[in-house]
Amino acid sequence: MQNVVMTSGLCKAYGSRTAVQGLDLCVPYGSVYGFIGPNGAGKTTTMKLLLGLIHPTSGSIRLLDEELTPQSRLKILSRTGSLIESPSYYAHLTAAENLQLVAGLKGAEAKDVVRVLDIVRLTPDARRKVGQFSLGMRQRLGIAMALLGWPTLLILDEPTNGLDPAGIQEMRALLAEMPRRCGATVLISSHLLSELEQIVDHVGILNKGRLLYQGPLAGLQQHSRGDVALRLLHPALAAPVLKSAGLAGLAREERGEVVLPPLKEAFLADLVGSLAAAGAGVVGVSCRSRSLEEIFLSLTKADGETGVV
Ligand code: ATP
Repeated sequence: MQNVVMTSGLCKAYGSRTAVQGLDLCVPYGSVYGFIGPNGAGKTTTMKLLLGLIHPTSGSIRLLDEELTPQSRLKILSRTGSLIESPSYYAHLTAAENLQLVAGLKGAEAKDVVRVLDIVRLTPDARRKVGQFSLGMRQRLGIAMALLGWPTLLILDEPTNGLDPAGIQEMRALLAEMPRRCGATVLISSHLLSELEQIVDHVGILNKGRLLYQGPLAGLQQHSRGDVALRLLHPALAAPVLKSAGLAGLAREERGEVVLPPLKEAFLADLVGSLAAAGAGVVGVSCRSRSLEEIFLSLTKADGETGVV
């Protein structure tokens, strides 16, 4: 599959603070790609880099099959729509008037204004002044502005920020249908995987400026193991083994099983060997599945030294 966004070793430092380091981003054409990470992970910085709003400290960016350079930037941006932070608009003008202004700048037609209003479900409010709009309506107007000119790539930085649950639901539905309705690939950021997991097909998990996982959403589940449950004939004999493996405080008992946090495979194999040697009688080892949000949280939490994943 070809990529609409590709970065190679992308780094951005603000003085001595590194915001993004060694990022190799691959966003496939036609995907809805969720760029997920906790506050301060570097999502906005990356999106600003992709739009040429700030310059990388090192590394390169390819967008829409072209290297992003000062010469190619305008051409690339004419095929890109974006919403970074909150949208800009004239509060004393109506939604339709704001869109007509942007359409003029982008060389879009009057009928496109009608169509984007319909896509973001603002047609009934088209003649209202934007100053009277709710936050969710303003976000939808921002997306309508980004859609003018029918971009190949839409870059949206936390468009669900500040929305109520109904607004989030509506925004999700809107974004999920973008590739089909408008032919646009969507790169969207959020600090919550749960907010996007129903609509994205690819994810990049970012933490402290680095990608921890990138690929199909389905692969994330396989990428990370869940808690380990051990069925033992003599659980009392397990305690010293767990203690010497550094797991004493991490083990819990559930329905007759000893449950441990996710463990690296080689570590688990050694542990089972030690438990067997100590006479604990290992009769069952199973790995539980975890929700995507749990996987995300464990990925973004620092690795321990105990073999815990
Ligand atoms: P959030 O979810 O809170 O919006 P984010 O993932 O978008 O976070 P960024 O805004 O990209 O994160 O910030 C990444 C890091 O870069 C943070 O440590 C932030 O303080 C720093 N940073 C961002 N912009 C600047 C700037 N203009 N000058 C100095 N440091 C900055």
